[in-house]
Amino acid sequence: MIKASDADTWVICPLSVTLQAQYPAETTPAKNEGIQAHAVLSGTTLDGTPDMFDGAVMWRDHIAGIRSAGAITGEHGEYQLTVPRIHQQAIARPDYVMYGPGVLHVLDYKYGHREVPADSWQNKMAVAGLLGDADDREITVHMHVVQPRNFHGSGRVRTVTVNASDLRADINLLATQATRATQPNPPGQTGPQCLGCSARHACPLAQQAGYAAIEYAGSAVPLDLDPVSLGHELTALDRAEQQIRARRSGLAAAAESMLAAGQTVSGWALEQSTGRLTWSRPIADVLAIGDAMGVDLRKLDTVTPTQAKKLLPPELIDLYATRTAGAVKLVPSLTTAATAAFKRGK
Ligand code: SF4
Repeated sequence: MIKASDADTWVICPLSVTLQAQYPAETTPAKNEGIQAHAVLSGTTLDGTPDMFDGAVMWRDHIAGIRSAGAITGEHGEYQLTVPRIHQQAIARPDYVMYGPGVLHVLDYKYGHREVPADSWQNKMAVAGLLGDADDREITVHMHVVQPRNFHGSGRVRTVTVNASDLRADINLLATQATRATQPNPPGQTGPQCLGCSARHACPLAQQAGYAAIEYAGSAVPLDLDPVSLGHELTALDRAEQQIRARRSGLAAAAESMLAAGQTVSGWALEQSTGRLTWSRPIADVLAIGDAMGVDLRKLDTVTPTQAKKLLPPELIDLYATRTAGAVKLVPSLTTAATAAFKRGK
């Protein structure tokens, strides 16, 4: 299966299709959050955070804005479509589609923080599927991304408008890379996309690139670089940094899975971090106890247990507060390193 949702990875690295099928992405809190945010968006659940509901309002407002601009004769929510123009196994799943005479809107909702361009490969692939064999010279395409938690300067709702025929070269590239991905020995290419590749912990190319980057970062360089050499050096180090980060995050995810399954990973352990102190009783009770002690807690910007402890006896606040369980983190561990070394030495 050639998925539009992974297009920004396989359009650079066709090898990733085979490797990601072998090493599919594991469920993570961020992934679950995205699924929940989409469920809130589609109205299939009312179980969501305030951010998720704000995002859903932003999404509906944007759709209403497109509708009110006119020229829309049909629209529908998330559905799966095949994209034979790219590959027989290619599928796309746009979150929302709107169309009218000579106009096509493709909308993508992203709940994550990582900035996604409106003219993403994912959106282009959905456009290719929707256009089919239509005369692309006559169609204006609007690609949208609504990303409520994108706090970069580019804004949380972004749109790119093009004539459909302008996308021919990109669609051809997608088709070429999709074909390569399904042939024997598909070519691989490391790069920033490795960070989002679920196979990065098992990929030999990412491993080599990681080692090369580590070696390069440790090499001696002259201190008096001229501006051109300095620029090249910075670019090379940026790339090395990306490779090391991609490799590191893949190995960290694999180590977390192993440790969670009860295996030992030399030099590493899982540690439960300390959670936040939150109120265990209604805030009205907390304010009342403050009043009884002659302290108006309402004057605080935010009435948190930590803030309240500065004004009232901490042991009193502890009766009204509880500490939540923190996230489980991967941390270096001398104990597991020593245990592994001991086992090796036996
Ligand atoms: S880790 Fe990078 S090089 Fe390896 S398959 Fe994934 S995208 Fe390709």
